[in-house]
Parts: sequence; C-alpha cells; structure tokens
Amino acid sequence: MASGRLAIAATATFLGILGTVACSASSGESALAGDAPPTAAAGSAPAHAPGRIGAPGIGDPDFPTDGNGGYDVDRYRLKVDYDPATKHLSGVTGIEARATQDLAKFNLDLRGFEVSRITVDGSPAGFERFKDELVVAPAKTISDKARFTVEVTYAGEPDPVRGSSNLGTYGFIPTEDGAFVACEPNGAKTWFPSNDHPADKARYDFEITVPEGLTALANGELVGRPRSARGKTTFVWRESHPMVSYLATATLGKFELRQGRTATGIPNLAAVDPRYRAALDDLYTQSAKATDYWTTVFGPYPFSSTGGVIDDFSAGYALENQTKPMYGGFTPDGSIIAHELAHQWFGNSLSIKRWRDLWLNEGFATYAEWLWSEHNGESTVEKTFRSHYAAGPDAAIWKYAPGRAKPEDLFNSSVYNRGGMTLHALRQRIGDPVFFKLLKTWNAEHKYGYVTTEEFVALAEKLSGKQLDKLFEAWLFTDRKPTEW
Ligand SMILES: [Zn+2]
Repeated sequence: MASGRLAIAATATFLGILGTVACSASSGESALAGDAPPTAAAGSAPAHAPGRIGAPGIGDPDFPTDGNGGYDVDRYRLKVDYDPATKHLSGVTGIEARATQDLAKFNLDLRGFEVSRITVDGSPAGFERFKDELVVAPAKTISDKARFTVEVTYAGEPDPVRGSSNLGTYGFIPTEDGAFVACEPNGAKTWFPSNDHPADKARYDFEITVPEGLTALANGELVGRPRSARGKTTFVWRESHPMVSYLATATLGKFELRQGRTATGIPNLAAVDPRYRAALDDLYTQSAKATDYWTTVFGPYPFSSTGGVIDDFSAGYALENQTKPMYGGFTPDGSIIAHELAHQWFGNSLSIKRWRDLWLNEGFATYAEWLWSEHNGESTVEKTFRSHYAAGPDAAIWKYAPGRAKPEDLFNSSVYNRGGMTLHALRQRIGDPVFFKLLKTWNAEHKYGYVTTEEFVALAEKLSGKQLDKLFEAWLFTDRKPTEW
C-alpha cells in the first residue's frame, strides 16, 4: 500500500473499527438456538468441547478476531452480482477447505449482509452472527484433515470500513459508476465470507455480474469472453496462484482499457476510469517497465499478468492488489507504480503471517522506490537514505520500531521509511553482491509462501557469514536513532 500524497498520517485508532460492526441475527430454519447445532447428530460431542470448535481468530495476537482457526482454504469461488444504481450486492461464495482439527463449528468473517443459506458438503448448515463473525455449524462434525466445501448465499448493501484515520475507507466501496475494491488489512469480509487474514492464502475464481456497459476487473486473467444476457454482463476471472484475502478485488464501473505485453512478454492490462483517460498510456507503459525491471532485481515475476487500475474513488492510497494494483482517485507517478509492483514479490508472493511483520512488505517496497529512482537517474539510494537519516534524534521515526508494526498505527511511515533504511544499512554492511543475491534468494526460497523477520535475518546471516543481530535490533526493534551499520 502507498499513500497517494506520500504522507501517511500516524494517528490511527485502528482497533476502533472493530466496534462499528453490523450484527444481524440470522433467521429461519438455519438459526441456531442456544449453543448446540440444531442439526448435529444425536450423541455428538457438546458444541463447546475443546478441540471441536474452530477458533474465531487465526492467531495473530495484534488482530485477535481476524481470520479463523481450524481449517485452511484452498479455493474461493466468488459469484457476485452488483448493481451500482441500487448498491445491492447478491453473492454466492463457494469455499473449498481442509480441516486442521475436528470441527463441530467453525467461523467465517463477514461484515453486514443478510445470509440466507449456508451448506457444508451440500447439506444445509446452521449458522449465527456475532459482529463480523459468521459461525457455521455443519450438520455433521467435520473430521480433522477432511476436505470440505461451504457455500454461503448472502445479499445486501456493502458496508466498507471507514474512519480508521491512517487508512481512510477500505473494503468494497460503492462509487458513482460501480465499486472500488481495496481491502488491506481486513476488508475482504466487506464483500465475501472469508478467512480474512493473510495467513490463509487460497486460489480464487471470480464470476462478477454487472449492468451491461460496465467492466468488472478482478485478479489474475479473464477466462473466456464476457457474456451478456438480459442487460447484464458477467466477467469470469481466475487467479491461479495463491493469494491473501486483502488482495482480492472486484473493482467495477466504466473503464477504458489497454492490453498487451511487457517487453519481456508478461501480459499487461491497464484500466482507467474515463476521468483518468489521459493517464492510460503512461500507466500501461510504466507498469510494464517497472514489472520487467523488478524481474532483473528480485527474480522471475511470480504471477501470470501485470498491470494497474486507476478508479475515480478518492481513496488517497494505492493498493498492490495481486496482478492489478489499484490507484484510488489520483494519477500515480512512476515511483508509486514501482512501489506497488515491487509488492508483487514482497507482500503478494511472499506474505506475512502476522501484521507486526509489515515492514517485510512496506520496507521492501519503499526501498524499491529508492532503487527505481536511482535506476532512472533521479536520485541515488544513498542520497535518499541520507535525507531520511538526517532526521534529528527526537524525530517520530526513531520512536516507532518498524519491526513491530502497531495494530493501532499499522501504516506508520516508520514501517515504510525506517524499514527501507534497514535494508540500506544491511546493504552497506554485507556489500552489494551479497545484498542483491539475498533479495533473489529470499524470493526464490519463499515463493507463494509466508515469511517472518526472523527468517530474513537468518538468511542474511547465512549468505553473508556475518553476525547481524545487532544491526537488525538497532534498526527494527529500538525506539532510538540507530547508529549501527
Ligand atoms: Zn506498499
């Protein structure tokens, strides 16, 4: 993610949003009465037996109710029909998952909407709502390690997350002609029931239906031609590589497109709201150049296509949605495009398991901006580093340890700039050949997987043969200006 104004305020009260949830009781046959699943087989264990109830959070201590425990999602099959005129969304989400424990109940994350029906392995399941938790009680307990499918039918007006001050509004955001969909850190639940935390990657199929004349853009590539019938058009997209939930998008509306390939042959799609028509060619060209350049620095491009989307919602930020970074209401300069495309390696292919490690995404993407600037003969990385390092000892950047991003101030500029400076300090310590080998090895070893700071430090020490714990401690984990490199 990057701020369009390159100034990220540091005053969020992020946890505040957890209080502003929709809570609607389910109705009809599938509502749960009391604690026990009404359709559970007689003689099954009590509903609250330890080990049979999936946890309401995936285990991120800073975001305790994000994601869920007890299963791993393999694939989402999202069917969404959205009409901008009425702001009505009706959806059917199919989930293919594997249990990691016995499950008499498990949770999904969903904000708002009326849920009309849930099935598990084709049989109707009970369910109840509690804030953004959708608790599902299958007719039969799911056994540990079993594969199972869930289908959730729901409808209503999307309710994006608002008022988190250093994030603005995120999630499925209705616009005049459609919707702008950018979900970091936990806004997937504003448009589909999900295991909404980066620690559960999955593959995605999208089937998005919009009024004829509009375009729906999702991750990955278009499957077949859009089909129109009765005044509506359905776009089918598929992201066949693992993806975290906050990167999923279904941005839709009026768009002008330019399609082709980068110089090295990667399919490239740029799309702009007609208000940004003048920026289309530059978005296309810059996205192609940055993608190709990063393959020389970070290693092979991890996905099957690249590109970018400018929509007319004034988000004030950009988000690195997998294969299709999204720019919210501004014309991005080359630096922001380079930042979002660097995230395809750092954040998207290599993903964090817990939000406190966010510098592994943002510090690297910020460092990529500095590399991009030097590549284009604008400023050297050393100069950029020096200009940030010039901040006096009492500056805010030294008071926020970027290696432990704070949940109430996740996108603090220290996570970006001091994170980037950490990499430059490391580079000076281990030298260019080892540093750039480290960037490529890091990507190759963890492609499509998860990463932690501890793993990065261990790999840097292994490749350099140097003891680096003091350097990383000073740059990532102290609230003082570092002098170590
Ligand atoms: Zn970013």
